[in-house]
Amino acid sequence: MRHTKSPCPVSGKCGSCQYLHLSYQEQLKAKQNTLSALLKGLCPLRGMIGMDNPYHYRNKVHAVFGCDRRGKPVSGIYEANSHRIVPVESCLIEDEKADEIIGTVRRLLPSFKIRNYDEDTGYGLLRHVLVKRGFSTGEIMVVLVTASPVFPSKNNFVKALLKEHPDITTIIQNINGRGTSMVLGEKEHTLYGPGYIEDVLCSCTFRISSKSFYQVNPVQTEILYGKALEMAGLTGKETVIDAYCGIGTIGIIASKKAKEVIGIELNPDAVRDAVQNARRNSVNNIRFYCNDAGRFMTEMARRKGKADVVIMDPPRTGSTKAFMDSIAALEPERVIYISCGPDTLARDLRYMKTLGYHAREGWGVDLFPWTGSIETVCLLSK
Ligand code: SAH
Repeated sequence: MRHTKSPCPVSGKCGSCQYLHLSYQEQLKAKQNTLSALLKGLCPLRGMIGMDNPYHYRNKVHAVFGCDRRGKPVSGIYEANSHRIVPVESCLIEDEKADEIIGTVRRLLPSFKIRNYDEDTGYGLLRHVLVKRGFSTGEIMVVLVTASPVFPSKNNFVKALLKEHPDITTIIQNINGRGTSMVLGEKEHTLYGPGYIEDVLCSCTFRISSKSFYQVNPVQTEILYGKALEMAGLTGKETVIDAYCGIGTIGIIASKKAKEVIGIELNPDAVRDAVQNARRNSVNNIRFYCNDAGRFMTEMARRKGKADVVIMDPPRTGSTKAFMDSIAALEPERVIYISCGPDTLARDLRYMKTLGYHAREGWGVDLFPWTGSIETVCLLSK
């Protein structure tokens, strides 16, 4: 069946959703075909798990505030591969509440004489608005990214925003004075609330700050993590490594069914959140290390360390030979490979095979409906 909702009005320009011309069932089929072609001879693919309602699943929404060529204020998203802003009011995949809040910010600006930042002249204040919503808790964070720390009438602006959206639980001013394409700057002040939100995933509570990585589709993430843990087959006696652990989500969930968990993550902000998250969930059998995953594992292998299960969730670029060689030395019974880059997954599974680890089954979990991105979880064993 063809997708019958009115198509996205900015689909030609935005470039986020490559599959708008397909029905959702056709998208799942297309992703399954791509994945099984890549994994052919490497891993039997069991299926592609889709969403019941593949709309408005994104819990994190970002809008750029800027000016067009004539200096008129616009907000929306960057046009694919450019710095031109495409005006967007609503979106098929973004959280609707977040889009509403961004719309309110847009409407309130003139009465507070707040100007959008102009990249060409460097004049103006507001550069980006980022909204994150905890789908289970209902908590909402609004981050106002400004070009300078001076934010005239900020208290009244915050009051007006809260009056229209009393369900906002925290508002942050982030200062990004640099001419980079990074959304967030280093410095920030909390203008309202605790400065973070919490969300619940697989019965554990996680603190999310403005900068830390958190999966954008929590509904499907629960399914993905559920599959990963099912594959891990934990009984309570295992030493588990959660490599590329982010804010510790998978490791903390796994810790309830393992003897001990070691989390490894390169980003110090994420590690700080992970430590807090372990405490928040009264988990005492997990330790986090801020290190390159490959370097940590090499060192652990050199010291003749052992692990029963390795869960790895590397970025799109995949893992490294140093990391995978160390897996072979640590001799875990099972390896769970979670991937958001099917090409690098295929490359790494091919290498793992030469080390004697064979992929037994794989599942696609559709974390990104309407887009071409593919998320996969695979079980490997000796
Ligand atoms: N497992 C987490 C995060 C996955 S995203 C979750 O499900 O939420 C991948 C993570 O790998 C990011 O947090 C990134 O900071 C981290 N990372 C990237 N390169 C790394 C490296 N070389 N060593 C360790 N962690 C790395």
